[in-house]
Amino acid sequence: MHTERTKLFLDIDGVLLGKANGRIALARGASKFLRFVTAHFDCYWLTTHCQGNANTAQTYLRPYVCKGLFETIKMIKPTCFNVLKTDALPKNGVFFWVDDRPLASELKFLEDNGLVSCLIRVDTYTNAEGLLECLDYLQRQFCLTTSDTPVIASKT
Ligand SMILES: [Mg+2]
Repeated sequence: MHTERTKLFLDIDGVLLGKANGRIALARGASKFLRFVTAHFDCYWLTTHCQGNANTAQTYLRPYVCKGLFETIKMIKPTCFNVLKTDALPKNGVFFWVDDRPLASELKFLEDNGLVSCLIRVDTYTNAEGLLECLDYLQRQFCLTTSDTPVIASKT
């Protein structure tokens, strides 16, 4: 049975790009994370590197990703916001927003609309395992909320 995919909004700096030895680098597990989310969620950029055009986010990430992963990130759709990222979010329903540092006004928007549980805070500048922890959480949520094929299929 086909069910509509849950929307997932994704930041880049401090999420997909973290720090390794003081330098900006693709966060640990980013490849695994991106392959999972693009396969199971309706994915959107929610970053200053994308203002209505996914190409700018792709170009920004290009130096950090291999060719195969670059094809994967092309599946992520653009959003547009002016000041607050929350302007691009749905006002209700179930979605996920992965970000390292939401602004106080963005947090207030989530609180006012009962959407606090939609936010997954990941900060790969300070926690190298952040994205893998988020992946683990999303895999569990995915299993709970869908009747689709289980994420981890046993090998015969
Ligand atoms: Mg960020």
